[in-house]
Amino acid sequence: MNGHSDEMTAAAGRLADVREAILRAERIAGRAAGSVQLIAVSKTHDADAIRPLIAAGQRLFGENRVQEAQAKWPALRAETPDIALHLIGQLQSNKAEDAVALFDAIHSVDRPSLVEALAKAMEKLDRRPECFIQVNIGEEPQKGGCAIADLPALLAQARAAGLPVIGLMAVPPLDVEPAPYFALLDKLARDHGLPGRSMGMSGDYETAIMLGATHVRIGTALFGTRPPIA
Ligand SMILES: *Cc1c(COP(=O)(O)O)cnc(C)c1O
Repeated sequence: MNGHSDEMTAAAGRLADVREAILRAERIAGRAAGSVQLIAVSKTHDADAIRPLIAAGQRLFGENRVQEAQAKWPALRAETPDIALHLIGQLQSNKAEDAVALFDAIHSVDRPSLVEALAKAMEKLDRRPECFIQVNIGEEPQKGGCAIADLPALLAQARAAGLPVIGLMAVPPLDVEPAPYFALLDKLARDHGLPGRSMGMSGDYETAIMLGATHVRIGTALFGTRPPIA
Protein backbone atom coordinates (compact mmCIF):
# COMPACT_ATOMS: atom_id res chain seq x y z
CA MET A 1 0.00 0.00 0.00
CA ASN A 2 1.29 3.50 -0.70
CA GLY A 3 1.33 6.30 1.91
CA HIS A 4 -1.79 7.90 0.58
CA SER A 5 -4.00 4.87 1.03
CA ASP A 6 -2.38 4.15 4.42
CA GLU A 7 -3.60 7.54 5.56
CA MET A 8 -7.05 6.89 4.16
CA THR A 9 -7.23 3.58 5.97
CA ALA A 10 -6.04 5.05 9.27
CA ALA A 11 -8.56 7.91 9.10
CA ALA A 12 -11.39 5.57 8.17
CA GLY A 13 -10.44 3.30 11.10
CA ARG A 14 -10.43 6.15 13.62
CA LEU A 15 -13.75 7.41 12.30
CA ALA A 16 -15.28 3.94 12.54
CA ASP A 17 -14.04 3.59 16.14
CA VAL A 18 -15.52 6.94 17.19
CA ARG A 19 -18.81 6.22 15.44
CA GLU A 20 -19.02 2.87 17.17
CA ALA A 21 -18.34 4.43 20.58
CA ILE A 22 -21.05 7.02 19.91
CA LEU A 23 -23.55 4.31 18.94
CA ARG A 24 -22.71 2.36 22.08
CA ALA A 25 -23.18 5.40 24.33
CA GLU A 26 -26.47 6.24 22.59
CA ARG A 27 -27.66 2.68 23.14
CA ILE A 28 -26.64 2.56 26.82
CA ALA A 29 -28.30 5.93 27.44
CA GLY A 30 -31.51 4.68 25.82
CA ARG A 31 -31.24 7.24 23.06
CA ALA A 32 -32.00 6.73 19.38
CA ALA A 33 -29.10 5.68 17.18
CA GLY A 34 -27.96 8.72 15.24
CA SER A 35 -29.34 11.24 17.74
CA VAL A 36 -25.84 12.60 18.41
CA GLN A 37 -24.06 14.60 15.73
CA LEU A 38 -20.33 14.06 15.36
CA ILE A 39 -18.45 17.29 14.64
CA ALA A 40 -14.96 16.45 13.36
CA VAL A 41 -12.76 19.26 14.71
CA SER A 42 -10.22 19.91 11.97
CA LYS A 43 -8.52 23.03 13.43
CA THR A 44 -4.76 23.13 12.68
CA HIS A 45 -5.08 20.25 10.20
CA ASP A 46 -4.62 20.98 6.52
CA ALA A 47 -6.73 19.85 3.57
CA ASP A 48 -4.62 16.73 3.01
CA ALA A 49 -5.36 15.57 6.54
CA ILE A 50 -9.08 16.36 6.17
CA ARG A 51 -9.70 14.68 2.79
CA PRO A 52 -9.36 11.09 4.09
CA LEU A 53 -12.15 11.73 6.60
CA ILE A 54 -14.34 13.19 3.88
CA ALA A 55 -13.56 10.13 1.74
CA ALA A 56 -14.62 7.95 4.68
CA GLY A 57 -18.01 9.66 4.73
CA GLN A 58 -17.68 12.40 7.37
CA ARG A 59 -19.60 15.53 6.35
CA LEU A 60 -19.76 17.71 9.49
CA PHE A 61 -16.62 19.59 10.53
CA GLY A 62 -15.72 22.15 13.19
CA GLU A 63 -13.16 24.94 13.15
CA ASN A 64 -12.23 27.41 15.87
CA ARG A 65 -10.88 30.30 13.80
CA VAL A 66 -12.69 32.17 11.05
CA GLN A 67 -9.55 33.01 9.07
CA GLU A 68 -8.19 29.48 9.13
CA ALA A 69 -11.55 28.14 8.00
CA GLN A 70 -11.78 30.71 5.19
CA ALA A 71 -8.40 29.57 3.93
CA LYS A 72 -9.18 25.84 3.96
CA TRP A 73 -12.83 25.17 3.35
CA PRO A 74 -13.95 26.88 0.12
CA ALA A 75 -11.73 24.51 -1.89
CA LEU A 76 -12.80 21.42 0.07
CA ARG A 77 -16.43 22.39 -0.29
CA ALA A 78 -15.99 22.82 -4.03
CA GLU A 79 -14.88 19.16 -4.10
CA THR A 80 -17.68 17.96 -1.77
CA PRO A 81 -20.65 20.34 -1.74
CA ASP A 82 -22.69 18.72 1.05
CA ILE A 83 -20.24 19.55 3.84
CA ALA A 84 -21.51 21.38 6.93
CA LEU A 85 -19.14 23.60 8.87
CA HIS A 86 -19.56 24.67 12.50
CA LEU A 87 -17.65 27.43 14.29
CA ILE A 88 -16.69 26.20 17.76
CA GLY A 89 -14.14 28.86 18.82
CA GLN A 90 -14.43 32.37 20.18
CA LEU A 91 -15.70 34.92 17.69
CA GLN A 92 -14.73 38.58 17.52
CA SER A 93 -17.62 40.87 16.63
CA ASN A 94 -15.72 42.29 13.66
CA LYS A 95 -15.62 38.78 12.16
CA ALA A 96 -19.34 38.17 12.63
CA GLU A 97 -20.19 38.78 8.99
CA ASP A 98 -17.44 36.45 7.73
CA ALA A 99 -18.64 33.80 10.18
CA VAL A 100 -22.27 34.09 9.08
CA ALA A 101 -21.20 33.83 5.45
CA LEU A 102 -19.06 30.71 5.97
CA PHE A 103 -20.53 28.61 8.79
CA ASP A 104 -23.72 26.56 9.10
CA ALA A 105 -23.76 26.85 12.88
CA ILE A 106 -22.04 29.02 15.49
CA HIS A 107 -21.41 27.47 18.92
CA SER A 108 -19.75 30.46 20.61
CA VAL A 109 -22.40 33.15 21.03
CA ASP A 110 -21.48 34.51 24.45
CA ARG A 111 -22.08 38.25 24.85
CA PRO A 112 -24.52 41.03 23.96
CA SER A 113 -22.20 42.83 21.51
CA LEU A 114 -21.73 39.59 19.55
CA VAL A 115 -25.49 38.94 19.46
CA GLU A 116 -25.92 42.41 17.95
CA ALA A 117 -23.17 41.89 15.39
CA LEU A 118 -24.53 38.48 14.37
CA ALA A 119 -28.08 39.78 14.08
CA LYS A 120 -26.88 42.59 11.81
CA ALA A 121 -24.82 40.19 9.68
CA MET A 122 -27.70 37.70 9.33
CA GLU A 123 -30.03 40.48 8.27
CA LYS A 124 -27.54 41.81 5.72
CA LEU A 125 -26.60 38.42 4.23
CA ASP A 126 -30.08 36.90 4.64
CA ARG A 127 -28.44 33.78 6.02
CA ARG A 128 -29.19 32.33 9.45
CA PRO A 129 -26.74 29.76 10.83
CA GLU A 130 -28.05 27.91 13.88
CA CYS A 131 -26.66 29.30 17.12
CA PHE A 132 -25.59 27.89 20.45
CA ILE A 133 -25.06 30.10 23.48
CA GLN A 134 -21.70 29.24 25.02
CA VAL A 135 -21.82 29.06 28.80
CA ASN A 136 -18.74 29.45 31.00
CA ILE A 137 -19.88 26.41 32.90
CA GLY A 138 -16.93 26.27 35.33
CA GLU A 139 -16.96 30.03 35.95
CA GLU A 140 -13.34 30.25 34.81
CA PRO A 141 -12.12 33.84 34.35
CA GLN A 142 -9.92 33.14 31.31
CA LYS A 143 -12.55 31.17 29.38
CA GLY A 144 -15.11 32.21 26.80
CA GLY A 145 -18.80 31.81 27.44
CA CYS A 146 -21.37 33.83 29.32
CA ALA A 147 -21.67 33.55 33.08
CA ILE A 148 -24.44 31.20 34.16
CA ALA A 149 -26.20 34.13 35.84
CA ASP A 150 -26.19 36.08 32.54
CA LEU A 151 -27.66 33.27 30.45
CA PRO A 152 -31.36 34.19 30.77
CA ALA A 153 -30.81 37.79 29.65
CA LEU A 154 -28.45 36.85 26.81
CA LEU A 155 -30.83 34.19 25.55
CA ALA A 156 -33.74 36.62 25.63
CA GLN A 157 -31.70 39.18 23.71
CA ALA A 158 -30.63 36.62 21.11
CA ARG A 159 -34.17 35.39 20.60
CA ALA A 160 -35.53 38.93 20.33
CA ALA A 161 -32.82 39.75 17.77
CA GLY A 162 -33.95 36.81 15.62
CA LEU A 163 -30.96 34.53 16.11
CA PRO A 164 -31.99 30.89 15.63
CA VAL A 165 -30.74 29.67 19.02
CA ILE A 166 -31.01 25.87 19.19
CA GLY A 167 -28.87 25.00 22.20
CA LEU A 168 -26.08 25.60 24.68
CA MET A 169 -22.36 24.84 24.39
CA ALA A 170 -19.69 24.42 27.04
CA VAL A 171 -16.11 23.36 27.58
CA PRO A 172 -15.75 22.10 31.17
CA PRO A 173 -12.62 22.92 33.20
CA LEU A 174 -9.54 20.84 32.34
CA ASP A 175 -8.33 18.03 34.56
CA VAL A 176 -11.44 17.63 36.67
CA GLU A 177 -14.33 15.19 36.34
CA PRO A 178 -16.50 16.72 33.59
CA ALA A 179 -19.75 14.85 34.34
CA PRO A 180 -21.20 17.40 36.81
CA TYR A 181 -20.62 20.17 34.26
CA PHE A 182 -22.31 18.19 31.48
CA ALA A 183 -25.25 17.53 33.80
CA LEU A 184 -25.47 21.22 34.61
CA LEU A 185 -25.42 22.25 30.94
CA ASP A 186 -28.15 19.70 30.24
CA LYS A 187 -30.26 21.14 33.05
CA LEU A 188 -29.76 24.72 31.86
CA ALA A 189 -30.77 23.73 28.32
CA ARG A 190 -33.87 21.98 29.62
CA ASP A 191 -34.80 24.94 31.85
CA HIS A 192 -34.68 27.21 28.80
CA GLY A 193 -36.46 24.91 26.38
CA LEU A 194 -33.43 24.36 24.15
CA PRO A 195 -32.98 21.00 22.37
CA GLY A 196 -29.23 21.27 21.62
CA ARG A 197 -26.33 20.45 23.93
CA SER A 198 -22.88 20.89 22.35
CA MET A 199 -20.60 19.14 24.83
CA GLY A 200 -18.00 16.39 24.87
CA MET A 201 -14.54 16.20 23.28
CA SER A 202 -12.11 13.35 22.54
CA GLY A 203 -11.51 12.47 26.18
CA ASP A 204 -15.05 12.62 27.49
CA TYR A 205 -17.63 12.37 24.71
CA GLU A 206 -19.15 9.08 25.85
CA THR A 207 -19.87 10.61 29.28
CA ALA A 208 -21.31 13.69 27.56
CA ILE A 209 -23.63 11.51 25.46
CA MET A 210 -24.90 9.68 28.56
CA LEU A 211 -25.70 13.12 29.99
CA GLY A 212 -27.57 14.42 26.96
CA ALA A 213 -25.05 15.74 24.42
CA THR A 214 -26.57 16.27 20.97
CA HIS A 215 -23.34 17.50 19.35
CA VAL A 216 -19.90 16.16 20.28
CA ARG A 217 -16.80 18.04 19.09
CA ILE A 218 -13.98 15.61 18.43
CA GLY A 219 -10.52 16.44 17.11
CA THR A 220 -7.70 14.32 18.52
CA ALA A 221 -9.54 10.99 18.40
CA LEU A 222 -10.11 11.48 14.65
CA PHE A 223 -6.99 13.29 13.48
CA GLY A 224 -4.35 12.31 16.04
CA THR A 225 -2.58 14.92 18.18
CA ARG A 226 -2.46 18.47 16.87
CA PRO A 227 0.86 20.11 16.05
CA PRO A 228 1.77 22.57 18.83
CA ILE A 229 0.59 26.13 18.18
CA ALA A 230 3.58 28.27 17.15
C1 LIG B 1 -10.17 21.78 19.93
C2 LIG B 1 -11.55 21.77 20.42
C3 LIG B 1 -12.28 20.58 20.53
C4 LIG B 1 -11.71 19.21 20.18
O1 LIG B 1 -10.83 18.79 21.17
P1 LIG B 1 -10.18 17.30 21.15
O2 LIG B 1 -9.78 17.10 22.55
O3 LIG B 1 -9.04 17.36 20.21
O4 LIG B 1 -11.23 16.36 20.71
C5 LIG B 1 -13.59 20.65 20.97
N1 LIG B 1 -14.17 21.82 21.32
C6 LIG B 1 -13.50 23.00 21.24
C7 LIG B 1 -14.18 24.26 21.62
C8 LIG B 1 -12.17 23.01 20.80
O5 LIG B 1 -11.52 24.19 20.72
